Amino acid sequence: MAHTLAFLTCHHKDEAVQSALATCGFEIVLYDAFNTDSLGTFTNEKARELTQLQTALKKAQLACELTGHSFGLGSEGAFGPHPQVHLLPWNYEVLAFWDVAHQHAIYAVHGTAETNFASQSVTSLEEANAFAQQSQFPSHGLIVGSPSDSFFQKGIQDASAFQDLVKHALSLSSSVWIETDMRAHMNPTRMKVIAQTADKLQVLLSSHCPQCKRPGFGLTQHIAGALCKTCHSPTRLPKAEQWSCAKCDFTEIKELNTWASAAQCDVCNP
Ligand SMILES: [Zn+2]
Ligand SMILES: [Zn+2]
Repeated sequence: MAHTLAFLTCHHKDEAVQSALATCGFEIVLYDAFNTDSLGTFTNEKARELTQLQTALKKAQLACELTGHSFGLGSEGAFGPHPQVHLLPWNYEVLAFWDVAHQHAIYAVHGTAETNFASQSVTSLEEANAFAQQSQFPSHGLIVGSPSDSFFQKGIQDASAFQDLVKHALSLSSSVWIETDMRAHMNPTRMKVIAQTADKLQVLLSSHCPQCKRPGFGLTQHIAGALCKTCHSPTRLPKAEQWSCAKCDFTEIKELNTWASAAQCDVCNP
């Protein structure tokens, strides 16, 4: 029998998560009567006061409170520079699962460079059109202006409406801020990343802690030190994985038995 899982979202994210969660016995019940923008927006009309993980959990807990269901799901995305290559954009997604009866939270976290996240200040229609093309508009929505501008508009998906708005904005101001709309229903690329995050959550929900038997037992850390095949020095590549329980303090080290090549070794290839 399927359990129902209440999901608080205004942006159709249920479409991205339902098939993964169905495979571990959860049927999504959408709750869209709560304005999730009150917990913070990407465009800063309302700043987010909690961390990304806390916000996702808050949404999952609210979903339970508002619907009376025993299980809740919350989603929160963040965008910024790539952690290693800072000219590349980066999308970090969190799905939080909340089990009321056990007061148990499970987080699935997924980071990827696969995103169209970008913004630019433009001074001509040509520049605006070039930005739009790079951003996969109109399959992906755009935002014109900042919240304080009279012409500020989110969720633009129509090419002629975009042209008209940029022309109007440029008649009022010498430069106009344009950015990609990262809300899930405006952004098929992000929708796909949320689906990948749901796949990770499905794996965690099916993985039980050997000690307390709660679900959510998974990889939390890589331990560096795989030996070089050539000189047998430890490298920065992982030699083991640390798996931890999301509920109790149980931790297990899983040896990977992998070797690093000389090219990945700081001694052989300084
Ligand atoms: Zn445990
Ligand atoms: Zn070596």
